[in-house]
Amino acid sequence: MVKSVSTLRELRLVLETWRQRDETIGFVPTMGALHDGHLALIRQAQNLSTRVVTSIFVNPLQFGNDAEMETYPRRPEKDEHFLTDNGCDLLFSPTADSMYPFGFSTQVDPGPIGQIWEGVFRPSHFIGVATVMVKLLLQVMPDYVFLGEKDYQQLQVIDQIVRDLHIPVSIIPVPIQREPDGLPASNQNVFLSAEERSKSIALPRVLQTAVDDIRNGHDIEATLSGGTQQLEIAGLQVDYFELVDAHTLSPARDLKKPTRIIAAARIGKTRLIDNMAV
Ligand code: AMP
Repeated sequence: MVKSVSTLRELRLVLETWRQRDETIGFVPTMGALHDGHLALIRQAQNLSTRVVTSIFVNPLQFGNDAEMETYPRRPEKDEHFLTDNGCDLLFSPTADSMYPFGFSTQVDPGPIGQIWEGVFRPSHFIGVATVMVKLLLQVMPDYVFLGEKDYQQLQVIDQIVRDLHIPVSIIPVPIQREPDGLPASNQNVFLSAEERSKSIALPRVLQTAVDDIRNGHDIEATLSGGTQQLEIAGLQVDYFELVDAHTLSPARDLKKPTRIIAAARIGKTRLIDNMAV
């Protein structure tokens, strides 16, 4: 079984032993209910570091309401087996009380990058993400942290705080892992009915078409509004479908710098996010 710790004291004991042996530590922060997307991060961590630490913590600070947090999928036993089978060295699963004890009040605000796109629909979400990430990075002090491009804005938010706060860690972005039908692997997918699922695959399909069209020189504005329309026709309610600068996430209207199309859409009670590099 994977070695599993839940307190900071236990975590430090293990990390100290490794540090004394000059091992390098790769860190994969997650909220659990592990799937192939998480596995890609673990594999990349195994390639670049001698030890891999995965954390599982469903962070109350980043949820908009209690219901969203309570229905978040939790499968601790399955996750432990998953980590064992895939050769992870250490599982860190702190409790909410230990992360946010009575009297906890400090929050990390990444600034404007946390207020656009997802930040509009989920106010204070990225303050929750930034706060927990700073805590986890200070607790684990890894050489590398592995983050999925699936949550592209989150990746840029964490890049911002790591730069701004001089946190000594290298961020390694990991490409999106997709299901055979094109949908990014996500633990939100279990909430989709069969009908919703078949409608949802319009998102990666329309994204890919828009990426191809923009690469082929089609008008950017027309491509984006056409894509939005196609998604609405497919039965999705689009929150945004935008070409953005790949680092600042400001809207882009040319391809002089690296760009990405980022998208979010709702179907039933599920919110889908996706993105692709142009
Ligand atoms: P989560 O457990 O959903 O908070 O995700 C933990 C990490 O796994 C984040 O860095 C996510 O971006 C990453 N991740 C989740 N799903 C995928 C996926 N389909 N492909 C790549 N990375 C992913």
